[in-house]
Amino acid sequence: MSRRPLSSNRLEIGSATSIGKLRTNNEDAYLAADSLFAVADGMGGHAAGEIASTLAISTLKSAREDLTDPANLKRLVMQANLTVLDAPRQGIGRAGMGTTLTAAVIDNDRLLIAQIGDSRAYLLHENKLRRVTRDHSYIQELLNSGEITEAESRDHPRRGVITRVLGFESDTQPDLYELRLEVGDRLLLCSDGLHGMIEDDEIALAMTEPRTAQQCADALVRAANNAGGQDNTTVVVVDICSIPPPARRLPFRRSLRSGILGFLLAFSILTGSVFGGVWLYASHAAYVITEDGQIVIYRGLVGDVFGLKLQWQHEVTDIKASSLESPLPERLRNGIQLGSLDEAEDLIEQYRQQIDEPKGQQKGLSAPHIEEQYQ
Ligand code: MG
Repeated sequence: MSRRPLSSNRLEIGSATSIGKLRTNNEDAYLAADSLFAVADGMGGHAAGEIASTLAISTLKSAREDLTDPANLKRLVMQANLTVLDAPRQGIGRAGMGTTLTAAVIDNDRLLIAQIGDSRAYLLHENKLRRVTRDHSYIQELLNSGEITEAESRDHPRRGVITRVLGFESDTQPDLYELRLEVGDRLLLCSDGLHGMIEDDEIALAMTEPRTAQQCADALVRAANNAGGQDNTTVVVVDICSIPPPARRLPFRRSLRSGILGFLLAFSILTGSVFGGVWLYASHAAYVITEDGQIVIYRGLVGDVFGLKLQWQHEVTDIKASSLESPLPERLRNGIQLGSLDEAEDLIEQYRQQIDEPKGQQKGLSAPHIEEQYQ
């Protein structure tokens, strides 16, 4: 499986869903796992809406591809559309059922969003709430053309008419957004049961309260129900608690050294001294690995080469693998091969920083927010 939940981000996640005060069933569905989040709001009556939204979420859950690639995320959402569209022919649900889908992938400091319909993504950054997605709705079209104001939209008779949805047409495509994340940001995905009942100001207020992601999710749903609860309400709240430092490029000096070693290895192989070449390379290479729970630096190569062990212990560090964030402990179990002792020591230093840096104090993470809409 190559999907990357992986982000080594530390995230705190909250989620809540409510049937509301008027509906007899909850047609919303959501996903909040690893680094993949989504909200789907089904429609179709007679439980078909629940089936449509559940099918869309199930398609996301079953993903095997790397969803940090926007093309893969877009393809998967289009696949979810076809799944919902085709389901009635398989005897699942009813013809005419549909669902919105707003999905978010977090990959280090990148936030990738795919959206069809009027379930929204908001991002709270430095206590300011911004609406990331633009609804696929009749009202949004009137707003875009300036025919009505935001205030007039609230009581508009055609409020709730969606112009793009999964399950209606085979070539429906999502809008994609990419944003830069910083530590302290709070992401919200929600169905229209929330933004249809309370204004963005009230959403912002609930989002800026200093409480956990789960408490925030509960407060948002409670606010929607207190305002009337006319629809199902579903929210997913994600706090960005840490972002791993960016991978560092090797300084020129070390790149040059690696290049020379590579040349010597190639030369040795070409001249027949295969083992000599490998030994030469091994004597300069290094790796880090876990032994008895402790991270150890070795010179040499991980594993065997021609049945021989070309490795020499260099240092048992004071770092326990268990003090690092997943998936590093798992990776270190098999050893991480590096080009030189300098690189190994740099890596150890990075691990040390990861352990020492208090929450919210990571360095080098002040890149400005960048938004790019792919279409
Ligand atoms: Mg709804």
